[in-house]
Amino acid sequence: MAVLDVVKYPDPRLREPTHPVEHFDEGLRQLVRDLADTMFALNGAGIAAIQVGRLERVFLIDGRVAGREDDVPVVFCNPEMIDSGHGISISEEGCLSFPGVFVEVKRPRWVKFRAQDQDGQWFEIEGEGLLARALQHELDHLTGRLLVDMVGMVKKEMIKRKMKRWHASQEGSGGDGDDDAVADDAAPVGA
Ligand SMILES: [Zn+2]
Repeated sequence: MAVLDVVKYPDPRLREPTHPVEHFDEGLRQLVRDLADTMFALNGAGIAAIQVGRLERVFLIDGRVAGREDDVPVVFCNPEMIDSGHGISISEEGCLSFPGVFVEVKRPRWVKFRAQDQDGQWFEIEGEGLLARALQHELDHLTGRLLVDMVGMVKKEMIKRKMKRWHASQEGSGGDGDDDAVADDAAPVGA
């Protein structure tokens, strides 16, 4: 089990260009296991590889959020949004890279995605509500788009200040030592 450090805003690694998964090999499976461990440890609804400093186009969504019977994460490699609609939904989102920050974001209510699983098999998934929101949030991560990009100037400055305080609070406390507190803050929609 490996819980990885999550890259926090404004770390420039969150803006790095991502690249497609080409090899569906043991290296990918290890990344997926580590992402799953990290997502569960922080109580996230989803997590993107770029949030642990990896540039593969990979994200995970909690199985229950994805409408499965259990919480075994659903793995999305090289994901694409192929359709969206059913109106607009506005709801608060959190992000594991922005501990304690919640932002109202407008998004299409329904989406349809295609992606490859960790064996390279293409599949499609569609959904509304938290699933639609989590899918769009994670896809945004793969293009470097972050919560702070969804808000006006005033809120943007608030978020920047809040993250500055968060980073300051981490200094001298042994790095990410208070991840438990982060997990509480980020639940239930931190992704
Ligand atoms: Zn996020």
